[in-house]
Amino acid sequence: MTTNTQGQGHIDEAISIGRKTTYALMGAGLHGYNGINPKICLQIWNIYIKPRVIYGLENIKLSNGDRKRLNQYHKRWLKQMLQLPERTADEGVYIIAGEIPIEAEIDRKILTQLMQIFRGEDIEKDIAERQLAVKDSTSNSWFIYAGKILEKYDLPKIHDLLRTPIAKGVWKKQLTESIINFWKHDILEKAKEKSSLKNLDLKDFKVGNIHSIWKHCNEDTLAVSKAGIKAKLLTGTYLLQSNVAKFQQKSETATCKLCGRQDETVEHFILICEAIEPQRKPFMEKFRKILEQHDVWNHIQVKIYNCYQS
Ligand SMILES: [Zn+2]
Repeated sequence: MTTNTQGQGHIDEAISIGRKTTYALMGAGLHGYNGINPKICLQIWNIYIKPRVIYGLENIKLSNGDRKRLNQYHKRWLKQMLQLPERTADEGVYIIAGEIPIEAEIDRKILTQLMQIFRGEDIEKDIAERQLAVKDSTSNSWFIYAGKILEKYDLPKIHDLLRTPIAKGVWKKQLTESIINFWKHDILEKAKEKSSLKNLDLKDFKVGNIHSIWKHCNEDTLAVSKAGIKAKLLTGTYLLQSNVAKFQQKSETATCKLCGRQDETVEHFILICEAIEPQRKPFMEKFRKILEQHDVWNHIQVKIYNCYQS
């Protein structure tokens, strides 16, 4: 175990390994635009790429800057897979992918290793006892670093755990729950503040589960590309005239270029625009039948009616 504080070189190497593994696995490059379902890409990420990227990083003291760089690499990877533009709000990317920042996985490894040491009876436990007795919070000790990570996730104090280590299975469950809850709460709180994510149902966020828009596309490249449009609509990055007008106030108006009757908002595009009614109609009829069976059509109809009126 090292007390090396030079995390930067290790992060460069980790990112480089991630890129090389990605290219090696997918030939021309693993990215959403070649029609591979992001659900498969994420499985590849979690099984083959992520473990190689974070390999050994639990033994190094990473600075906040190191963690940020690694998280950025992960987010960019996710955006490419999910066909989302660079400007997509980070929280939207995590929610759509069902992911949490990659640093969470490093923290899990650190705290798993910490408990292994505490449960054991070898030299590393002696070092832990000595360092925790004499070092203060400004020290470079890995054990002090691990103690701060315990605090971050509101887990028991390091001195208590050293005295009374927790059994492997119980600790694994407690760690997983605490880490997921911490990040889920953090992501959802930030997402609530983002106006671009107002159409994203935050209750849908399940860590480890990609958003349902991708679930039934299988290997159908057309369905995958349609899901990519839905992902953009949900994260407020699909280019509608109402967005274009915000950025180019002089040359563009928000008026829908298809029908010329209303501003092109998400509601207008999905529910109202007459120009795309022929494409919408068969779908809406099917949709209506399903909703009537579940006795919720009237409720939805009121919502649609309100959109028409606004
Ligand atoms: Zn229109």
